[in-house]
Amino acid sequence: MIDIITKTDKLITDETWNGVSVNILGTEYTISRKAETEDSLLKDCNGYCDRSTKSIVIMKDCKEMELNNPDWYYKKLLRHEIVHAFFDECGLQENFETKKWGVQETVVDWIAIQFPKMYKVYEQLEILL
Ligand SMILES: [Zn+2]
Repeated sequence: MIDIITKTDKLITDETWNGVSVNILGTEYTISRKAETEDSLLKDCNGYCDRSTKSIVIMKDCKEMELNNPDWYYKKLLRHEIVHAFFDECGLQENFETKKWGVQETVVDWIAIQFPKMYKVYEQLEILL
């Protein structure tokens, strides 16, 4: 996981991360890149984490591809879904604040956005583990 998000020099393609497995708190999650036409769940979102199948799905043809830096968006999206996987695997996936979403999206996004910065500080101080 950490390898993936720190490779900033690599251009993200439709196949990037497709079929890659990551270990989330001891459970293997497989990442898939799919088009909206291949997965109906992508009609309402650009990616999701499915704890029932231990999979993370990222859309490969979403409108953010037209951003000046779509790689930034795809990395942010994948970090977000990985944070969901961590919540799922640590037992905090269930509803405790909102009925529809369980863990609040704001918290998930905050962690997903701040984690690379936190990682750099921890790495600099050599306090990762
Ligand atoms: Zn989310």
